[in-house]
Amino acid sequence: MVHYAFATQEQRELADNARKIMEKELPPERRAQLDREGRFPMDVLKKLAEAGYFGMEIPEEYGGLGFDVKTRSIILEEIAQVDAGFSFSFEGASKIENLLRTNLPRAEKQKWLDRTLAGDCIGAFAMTEPNAGSDAAAIRTTAVRDGDEYVLNGTKCFITNGPICDYVMVVAVTDKEKGPRGGFSMFMVERGNPGFTVSKHEDKMGIRLSETAELVFDNCRIPASHLVGKEGDGFGASMDELAAVRVTCMINALGIAQAALDYAVKYAKERRTFGKRIIDHQGLGFLIAEMQTKVDAMRALVYYGIDMIDQGIPLGTISSATKIFVSETAMQVCVDAVQVLGGYGYMREYPVEKLMRDIKIFSIFDGTNQIQRQILQKMLAGKDPLKVRK
Ligand SMILES: Cc1cc2nc3c(=O)[nH]c(=O)nc-3n(C[C@H](O)[C@H](O)[C@H](O)COP(=O)(O)OP(=O)(O)OC[C@H]3O[C@@H](n4cnc5c(N)ncnc54)[C@H](O)[C@@H]3O)c2cc1C
Repeated sequence: MVHYAFATQEQRELADNARKIMEKELPPERRAQLDREGRFPMDVLKKLAEAGYFGMEIPEEYGGLGFDVKTRSIILEEIAQVDAGFSFSFEGASKIENLLRTNLPRAEKQKWLDRTLAGDCIGAFAMTEPNAGSDAAAIRTTAVRDGDEYVLNGTKCFITNGPICDYVMVVAVTDKEKGPRGGFSMFMVERGNPGFTVSKHEDKMGIRLSETAELVFDNCRIPASHLVGKEGDGFGASMDELAAVRVTCMINALGIAQAALDYAVKYAKERRTFGKRIIDHQGLGFLIAEMQTKVDAMRALVYYGIDMIDQGIPLGTISSATKIFVSETAMQVCVDAVQVLGGYGYMREYPVEKLMRDIKIFSIFDGTNQIQRQILQKMLAGKDPLKVRK
C-alpha cells in the first residue's frame, strides 16, 4: 500500500480494508480468469457493498456515508491497484449524482439509493454513438415528449457497465434546432424497460473486468419524471461532469502505474544477471528511479485536482492537463515495467502485460487526449473550449 502522507488515519484504514477485500476476493489466478472471460465479478462488488463502500458517494441524508472526493479517491486507488477494470466499473456503478438530479419523487430516489447501498443497483452513462464519439454534439438519439412520457430512439455504443447496469443515464436530442446547448437532455432509463436492449457485448484489449456494450433504444417509452434536471441542460451537465471525471478517473490510471512500479521493483530485486540484482545495474536502476518519479508526480497532480473539486474551485486547465499527463505518463510506466521484466514481462503469466493492456484506454475515453489538447489550446487562446465546430 502507498503511504498517503496527506491522508488521515481513518482514510488510510478505509483504503487498507478495501484493498484487503480486493486481494482476498480477487487473487491473481481469478483476476487472470476473469480477464480472459471479460467478465465483471458481481460477488466482489457485493462484498464491497456489505463493507459499506457503495455508500461513499451517497449523501448522509439518504443513508450514505457522504465521503468527500479525496477520501473516495484514496480508497479507489487501492482498489485500482488490484484491478483497474473492476475499479473503473465500480466507480461508474456507484455514481449517483444524476440519479439525485432526476425529477423522481424523493421516496423513489431513496429506493434506488437503498438498492445502490446494498450493491444491488448498477448505473451507466451513455453519450457516445457509432458516429458521435469525440464529436459528442453530433449525437442522433432522440427523445420526444408524448404526454407524460418521452419516447427514445437511437443507438449508444461503448457503454461501460452496459451489460450489467440496472439503469442508464442517456443523453438524447430533445430540440435539434437549439443544438447541444439547450437541445440535449439526459434521461434515466431502467433495465427491462420495453424498447431498451443491450445488443453488442464488446471484446476489449484491456480493463476486461469492466463490461462494455452497445445499447439500443427502439420506441422506448419512459416516464417524464425520469428526465434528469431540466429539458435542454443535458449537454452542459454532461460536460461539467466530464470535466471532473477527467481528474477523478485518473485515480484508476494512477493505481495501474503504482501496481506496475511495485511489481517491477520487486522483480528487479529478485532477478539477477551478471552476478548482481538487476536493480543494481545502473541502466535499469535509473529506469526504475524514473518510474518512481513519474508515479509521484502523477499522484501530486491528481490529488491537487481532487482537492480543487472538494473545495469547489473551478478546474480550468487542470481537468484536461491531468488527463493528458496522467494517462500518458502511466502508459510509459507500464511499458517500462514490461521492459524491467524482459521476456517475462511479455508473458501473460506475469501481471505487467495485463497492466500495459489496461492502461491504454485512459488516453481514449472521457474525451481523447487529442480532444483534451484541443480544449487546452482553445482555453489558452481565449476561445470557447467546447465549441469544436468552426
Ligand atoms: C472501453 C471504453 C469505455 C467507454 N465507456 C463509455 C461510457 O460509459 N459512456 C460513453 O458515453 N462513452 C464511453 N466510451 C466512448 C469514448 O468516450 C469514445 O470512444 C471516445 O470519446 C472517442 O470517440 P470515438 O471512439 O468515436 O473516436 P473518434 O471520435 O472517431 O476519434 C478517432 C481519432 O480521431 C481523433 N480526433 C477526433 N476528432 C479530432 C479533432 N478534432 N482533432 C484531433 N483529433 C481528433 C481522436 O482523438 C481519435 O484518436 C467508452 C469507450 C471505450 C473504448
